[in-house]
Amino acid sequence: MEDCIFCKIVKGEIPPGLGEVYNDKNFLGFLDIKPLVKGHALIIPKKHFKTMLDMPSSLGVELLDAIKDVTLDLIKENKGEAVNIHVNNGESAGQVVHHLHVHIVPRKKGDGLMDKMV
Ligand code: 5GP
Ligand code: ZN
Repeated sequence: MEDCIFCKIVKGEIPPGLGEVYNDKNFLGFLDIKPLVKGHALIIPKKHFKTMLDMPSSLGVELLDAIKDVTLDLIKENKGEAVNIHVNNGESAGQVVHHLHVHIVPRKKGDGLMDKMV
């Protein structure tokens, strides 16, 4: 996808911004450029899929491994004691970048964010 900002990050054409947090065969993780809180990370498949529904289920285990890896690092780094993990699938659900990405938002008691995302 030529115009996709996340494809450009995967190809190394532009930097992710605040830093890479994960890199394996099929997934890349980096800090969100406009974080809800410090440590807010995104995990994306290196291949362009628009939403979770477009990604082959066979990549699911690897994606879950990436999510767990990044989450455990965030907790180890004391960015939070808990996390919200969410995906906005489609514009009406708030998806702005049309390349699948999983948000990992570290949470601390009294951090001022909504108690629940949904
Ligand atoms: P969405 O609303 O599509 O689920 O969220 C897109 C997220 O991508 C937003 O939180 C936004 O801050 C983040 N984002 C957009 N462009 C870039 C970028 O170039 N670099 C990084 N690191 N994050 C981005
Ligand atoms: Zn893309």
